[in-house]
Amino acid sequence: MRKPLVAGNWKMNGLKSALEEINLMEIAGDAVSDKVDVMICPPATLIQAVRQRVRRTTVGAQDCHVKESGAHTGDLSAEMLVDAGASAIIVGHSERRQDHGETDDLVRAKASAAIRAGALAIICVGETREIREAGRAEEVVLSQVAGSLPREAGANDIVIAYEPVWAIGTGLTPTPDDVADMHSAIRTHLLNHYGTTGENVRIVYGGSVKPGNAAELMAVDHVDGALVGGASLKADDFAAIFSVYRDIA
Ligand code: PEP
Repeated sequence: MRKPLVAGNWKMNGLKSALEEINLMEIAGDAVSDKVDVMICPPATLIQAVRQRVRRTTVGAQDCHVKESGAHTGDLSAEMLVDAGASAIIVGHSERRQDHGETDDLVRAKASAAIRAGALAIICVGETREIREAGRAEEVVLSQVAGSLPREAGANDIVIAYEPVWAIGTGLTPTPDDVADMHSAIRTHLLNHYGTTGENVRIVYGGSVKPGNAAELMAVDHVDGALVGGASLKADDFAAIFSVYRDIA
């Protein structure tokens, strides 16, 4: 059985004053911790402070360098992020693919680095609006999954986050049927890749998940949780999202 994961991606948001939200998230997460894993991915500057404030909630980072150490000014290695308290690292987020030209090859190397450091690699994939309108969403997303998945990764080392680019931060979401079709196509790919242990990989949905649509999206087959951006910054909204698992069998 896959335990769902709801991870909050704070992106480039959050000063020390934002830590006030953490205690409330932790209390709300504690109440549903038998049903769902709750994770907060703050900016790297807050990883250690968040880690010190949580017990059940886990902490993730938003990106890492592929190397363990070296002359890479301004970069952070997976080992450094784990040392600071991260137990997961998001790789291949569409904002990094777009803003920094990250390719599947680089995303795969970053996922390998996360796993090397002992962290869960949360590998993001998703199509643009143009690709969806051209009817190529599944083909493109499956090719991203194939290209971004490290060969050595075990089924428990990774999470796939399906995040349609056009749904991120826009208030738009795919229909539950479209989400079901994509998650089931990704599951089939994982079963072909891993054999039966492909059933263990969590596939989370991301893109404008809010308190008002979380229950419907999280109830879709093969949706094993969510990657939440904007709505994860406020404890009330984030808690309302992961708390839908209290009522999902
Ligand atoms: C994200 O960036 O991972 C995301 C899903 O953002 P939002 O929830 O704000 O659409």
